[in-house]
Amino acid sequence: MARDVSRRGFVAKGAAAAATAFGFDLRPAQASVRELKISRTTQTHSVCPYCAVGCSVVIHTLGDKAHNVKPAVVHIEGDPESPVNRGTLCPKGISLKEFVTSDRRLTRVLYRAPGAADWKTISWDEAFARMARAIKNARDAGFEETDEQGRTVNRLRNVAMIGGCTDTNEINYLLSKFRFGLGILPYENQSRL
Ligand code: SF4
Repeated sequence: MARDVSRRGFVAKGAAAAATAFGFDLRPAQASVRELKISRTTQTHSVCPYCAVGCSVVIHTLGDKAHNVKPAVVHIEGDPESPVNRGTLCPKGISLKEFVTSDRRLTRVLYRAPGAADWKTISWDEAFARMARAIKNARDAGFEETDEQGRTVNRLRNVAMIGGCTDTNEINYLLSKFRFGLGILPYENQSRL
């Protein structure tokens, strides 16, 4: 055997030979099934949420956008146009469809009052109002206009902000604006803004 046959080429040749030996070639049928699976989908570009590599993905959604049709994610794959992952995904990323469609996915706001044992569902409006009030109270309690030597600092050290690898440039830009607007100093983010 020639020494320059690649592993991928060797496997491909083997598969073709096996199909021929049984008298039929499955490849056209397999290609057809693959095409049908995503042929009527809407494609949305996004970023894998699992790690700081930030691989780009294409999400295929089935649904004609009519009001009485609930769109369904049918396939997620690596974005071939991404310079980060060039269409590939690791085993975690390739399982993203289950991450989206799992019946255990949390889709509502749960709140546990101080001292309470149980969680209760609250509305987004109530959640936003609670968060805004908590931030305002903490800022009122901790804002420092000057340091010990009288220098202007306008800082907040009793509130911290964290970000994750799924935050896009745009989200990080807005987060930074928000943070600096409040004067928050403690900040941690995988993207190291
Ligand atoms: S596909 Fe894998 S390597 Fe890429 S961002 Fe997701 S977890 Fe990280």
